[in-house]
Amino acid sequence: MQVEIVTIGNEILSGRTLDTNFATLARLLEEASVKVAWHSTVGDSQERIAEGLTRALDRADAVVMTGGLGPTPDDVTRKAVSTVLGRPLQLDEGVLESIRERGRRMGRRLPATIETMALLPRGAEVWPNSVGSAPGLLLLHRDKPVMLLPGVPSEMTALAEEHLVPYLRERTGRAIETFTLRTYGVFESQLHERIGALDDAWQGASLAYLPSSFGVDLRVTVSGANPAVVRETSLRAYNELFAKVNGVVYAEGATGMEEVLGAILLDKGWRIAAAESCTGGLFVKRLTDVPGSSRYVERGFVTYSNAAKLELLGVDEGTLKAQGAVSAAVAEQMAGGARGRAGVEVGVGITGIAGPDGGSENKPVGLVFVALASPLGEVVRVLHLHGSRATVRERAAQTALDLLRRHLLGLPVDASLD
Ligand code: ATP
Ligand code: MG
Repeated sequence: MQVEIVTIGNEILSGRTLDTNFATLARLLEEASVKVAWHSTVGDSQERIAEGLTRALDRADAVVMTGGLGPTPDDVTRKAVSTVLGRPLQLDEGVLESIRERGRRMGRRLPATIETMALLPRGAEVWPNSVGSAPGLLLLHRDKPVMLLPGVPSEMTALAEEHLVPYLRERTGRAIETFTLRTYGVFESQLHERIGALDDAWQGASLAYLPSSFGVDLRVTVSGANPAVVRETSLRAYNELFAKVNGVVYAEGATGMEEVLGAILLDKGWRIAAAESCTGGLFVKRLTDVPGSSRYVERGFVTYSNAAKLELLGVDEGTLKAQGAVSAAVAEQMAGGARGRAGVEVGVGITGIAGPDGGSENKPVGLVFVALASPLGEVVRVLHLHGSRATVRERAAQTALDLLRRHLLGLPVDASLD
């Protein structure tokens, strides 16, 4: 089955809104082994939407459209689809009632135009929207599915996960298993080299390398007609892959490094304080992204200036003068200062040059020192990071999280595949 995704909206064509709906859908369909063969974007006009749908029906086996299902006059997707498929709009009492019910629950007065959202092309199957008003719609046109989802990304995603993917899976009749191993600390090319070519044990499986500032995710998708075979292949692939790369795996699925570290701190019953310079608080921000992190995050010091390092952390003035703020010695004193001043078990110090200016021959942009102090001992590492200011900061924070994870778990602090 080859699918076309049509996203609808003038704001996408103008470049003001990034087409994240396409990216989300394409990823979900890929995971479900449904092939996305085309993607188009059309403006909010009935004529353009009709054109887009007609062309998609010509070439694809199924069409997914997002956007323009709301109650405002620029939401004309239902009208356009109704015209192309020759199915007049009819009021659906069930949908109307659930929209009204949702309005009552949220204590909102609904505009009269809200009723237009309950006008559906004849014969549409309704996919209830668990996070918003406009339901998703499924229409079969000469046995080709045409699926309409709202444009609001959270609603689109919920409907795609809860209805669209299960529907297409069932229709294609294929069993799917996927898993993701998240790695940090080695390059994609090193992983390639270690993993090598996929062998026979991997029949029906595919492996994707997904690099980002958070490391390289390895995503495996196994699909086939027989669920038992798919399950078994997936297990075998998991064991084989894990054995090859376990030295750098920090999590599975969508779990972030900050969650892994939070669990370790909770388990040890230790609390943490961090002193940050070049990351400007990003390290503590990451830690506190996790619900419940108040159980182990004590405080963060954003000590950008030398004065702040002296005053808030007790960094030694002589060391600052002799070695400069971006140095191993200052990072160590920042970690020790954070730990001591906050009275906690774990202290972290991060200092570096995020760029794009401020680098020199001795201390180039991307030079970052990370120091850790805990009951297990003290560690300091120098990092040479590349990329934009944003990337250097993201990588510095992620590396510091990973160093601390390794340190607290008693693993070798420097990531390697051996
Ligand atoms: P509403 O009921 O809010 O009107 P809708 O189904 O009519 O929903 P739109 O009006 O097209 O959807 O878009 C609603 C919001 O979702 C807008 O803020 C829009 O920028 C955003 N949006 C729409 N399409 C996309 C897309 N493809 N990617 C990312 N965001 C999108
Ligand atoms: Mg709208």
